[in-house]
Amino acid sequence: MALIVQKYGGTSVKDVDRIQNVARRIKGFVDQGHQVVVVVSARGGVTNELVDRAKTINPQPAEREMDMLLACGEQETIALTAMALHSLGQPAVSRLGHQAGFVTDGEHTRARIIDITGGDIKDRLAMGEVVIVAGFQGQNSHGEITTLGRGGSDLSAVALAAGLKADLCQIFTDVDGVYTADPRVVPNARKINEISYEEMLELASMGSKVMQARSVEFAQKHGVIFEVRSSFNDQPGTIVKAEVPSMEDVVVSGVALDKNQAKITVSDLPDKPGTAALVFKALGEANVIVDMIVQNVSRGGQANLTFTVPKDDVHRATGAVEKVLQQAGGGTVNYTGDIAKLSVVGVGMRSHAGVAATLFDILAANSVNIQMISTSEIRISVAIDLEDAPKATQAVHDGFGLSA
Ligand code: ADP
Ligand code: ASP
Ligand code: MG
Repeated sequence: MALIVQKYGGTSVKDVDRIQNVARRIKGFVDQGHQVVVVVSARGGVTNELVDRAKTINPQPAEREMDMLLACGEQETIALTAMALHSLGQPAVSRLGHQAGFVTDGEHTRARIIDITGGDIKDRLAMGEVVIVAGFQGQNSHGEITTLGRGGSDLSAVALAAGLKADLCQIFTDVDGVYTADPRVVPNARKINEISYEEMLELASMGSKVMQARSVEFAQKHGVIFEVRSSFNDQPGTIVKAEVPSMEDVVVSGVALDKNQAKITVSDLPDKPGTAALVFKALGEANVIVDMIVQNVSRGGQANLTFTVPKDDVHRATGAVEKVLQQAGGGTVNYTGDIAKLSVVGVGMRSHAGVAATLFDILAANSVNIQMISTSEIRISVAIDLEDAPKATQAVHDGFGLSA
């Protein structure tokens, strides 16, 4: 008998039929003798709908109220999933985040997990019940509802698996596992059988929506091995675990595309010590995560700073920079959302040279202009025109020999 934590994402519970399908699958595991704790997301599209509704009423809604609103999505699906199990004769009980003991810090809309007590989950399991936990939500020390960032049900599942010391953690979604690229962008992408935490984290951070980046970080920190697999079939999925030496034989494991980036340019800044510090301190204080950064200095002594930020943060970022321009001694701010970030990832890059040259060659052969470049030990990213994104992703994927 194993203790299994399973997560079913939004598309897997998007309507009544799918919820009934999920309930049958859960019962199947219970019938094999396992104890099952389930984390569910909101029905697919519901969280986006709630965000849109909030922004129609108020373009800058209070973050506390956003959490209050967004947590509703998961409250619906836990209850419906429990009811579907009851209809199959399977005892089950639903639990909100705080009832399952998810204690977080106070950062509304992107809270960090501090502790998971589990509430009465173990007792309920011992009574033969399935426990269905609302993903994406917790509670801060003042008793306020918090959420864990978009895609946060992945984190709820991984954290619960760590907290309960589960034997297995399974992330059920609408694809068969982690692919060499998003199979919706690159139709000949291949399913990866095993991938290291580091690679999965880079892919997730660089736009592969299949896992929330913070959930992978948490899994790595706490050594939670998890499997990403389909809720529509019984195929084995992708195991995400610590790196083993053979993983380095593969130079590039996958390609990620992030279309939710914006490029901000601050022009005509005085070229003197402290200017960049001033600009990026303002961005940090506004809680904006900056990725690629390029600085050019003109002959006349003016500096231009260009950097990328998530599209959602662009107004917060430009607002924060505009506030310090006078103190900096001048400058103007412009932005564009028409860019995409394309990344190649692989632990093999540590031991193989020439990956950047190959990437740039492939892009050149396809007439794709590179606007910015950034790298980590196991990743190379380029900012390109949004229009070029699909063809560039396909070409880079095939050029590195990743196609099925
Ligand atoms: P869920 O609702 O189950 O959380 P998501 O929509 O968040 O599912 O994530 C699954 C989606 O991630 C897939 O439908 C796929 O389009 C996308 N995706 C992006 N990159 C990858 C990748 N490398 N491998 C698999 N899926 C990917
Ligand atoms: N419902 C939340 C979202 O859409 C959490 C999740 O699906 O993981 O971001
Ligand atoms: Mg998801």
